[in-house]
Amino acid sequence: MQNIAILGATGSIGRSALAVIANHPDRYRAGALAAGSDAKALAAAALAVRPQAVAIADEAKRSELAALLAEGGWKGEILSGPGAAEQLAADARFDTVIHAIVGAAGVRPAFAAAAAGKRLLLANKESVVCGGEILMRTVRESGATLLPVDSEHNAIFQCLHAAGSSGRDAARIWLTCSGGPFHARPEVDLARVTPEQALAHPTWKMGRKISIDSATLMNKGLEVIEAHHLFDFPPERISVVIHPQSVVHSMVEFADGAVVAELGTADMKLPIAYCLAYPERIAGDVKRLDITRMGPLTFSEPDTGRFPLLALAFEAISSGAASPIILNGANEVAVEAFLAGKIGFAAIGALCRDALDALSPAEPSGLEDILEIDRMAREAARSLTARHAI
Ligand code: NAD
Ligand code: MG
Repeated sequence: MQNIAILGATGSIGRSALAVIANHPDRYRAGALAAGSDAKALAAAALAVRPQAVAIADEAKRSELAALLAEGGWKGEILSGPGAAEQLAADARFDTVIHAIVGAAGVRPAFAAAAAGKRLLLANKESVVCGGEILMRTVRESGATLLPVDSEHNAIFQCLHAAGSSGRDAARIWLTCSGGPFHARPEVDLARVTPEQALAHPTWKMGRKISIDSATLMNKGLEVIEAHHLFDFPPERISVVIHPQSVVHSMVEFADGAVVAELGTADMKLPIAYCLAYPERIAGDVKRLDITRMGPLTFSEPDTGRFPLLALAFEAISSGAASPIILNGANEVAVEAFLAGKIGFAAIGALCRDALDALSPAEPSGLEDILEIDRMAREAARSLTARHAI
């Protein structure tokens, strides 16, 4: 029986994880649930699964959460405050951590789970982008098992595993990208796109931040950086390919020219179930791929002129370990500003470029350096927001 701490339990991935776990009560138990500030959703989830502990980052929501849980007759442990998720990630009662917090807020919990030698099911790509080699080293040194939940990386992981490959004989990673709502529509003026249009992803249903990242292609940029670290793969051998059907979740090309792909429907319950059961497989309740009815699959090159954030991410890998942290932090501030109606859609990329140009910090040598660079990036991006204001 795996006793699991789910960080970001009220989000899109967190809810999918709870759904997979609910289907296999003989194998998995949701022992702890952590969320940011939605006390009502956290209480509802906790009353459904009766974990040992719950955590809420927003201290001001603790009393509301406690009251709702007491009303439901639950008497477990309640943690609160910005360090609560990190505490659960390190807690020895939970052997597995599903990390589905959004953004760089997930960096500390990722390091905590890694340092504690956990089985870490990682959806929070921002922690790999910011943590980079330092996070990967922490994983290696503690003997933690890092399993990628992000669908593309999960697919790559599956392709390598299926091919019995350590990765050394892999020649190229083909990272598929749906293109988001605008890539296939060159007639759309990106300067005039509204948050509502940008949030409407054509194939995946996800949280707000990653939906905007998918529309700008920043999500793919973050994923290139993520793949570079997770698979110790140089950026020049990672290719992004636009695949609007989201059927092929990614591919690995081997030294002999063979290409191995993982296919399926667009449902995050699939990679979550794979990670939970790895190296076994468990029954999943995802819609099956009907091979004869799925229609044509297309693959084309991304337009980095119209979507500059993808090129910026490739550049950031070559500019040292601080650049991805700056890019990620600036992007988070820019996405928030866009969703709040303060800047236009096209300004997200411009603001990230400006933040990268404005800062040149020393290379990080540990977790505190990483968080300091993230803080500097946010501060710079906030002060640059005025320059791009609508
Ligand atoms: P979401 O916005 O739906 O959920 C985010 C969760 O994080 C919520 O439970 C929220 O309460 C919690 N949270 C936010 N700030 C927190 C904090 N400071 N402390 C503790 N909890 C906090 O986001 P999502 O779409 O589920 O994405 C989560 C992560 O998974 C992101 O990093 C995203 O890039 C990645 N991911 C998501 C998908 C997807 O299909 N949704 C696919 C691949 C990767
Ligand atoms: Mg992905």
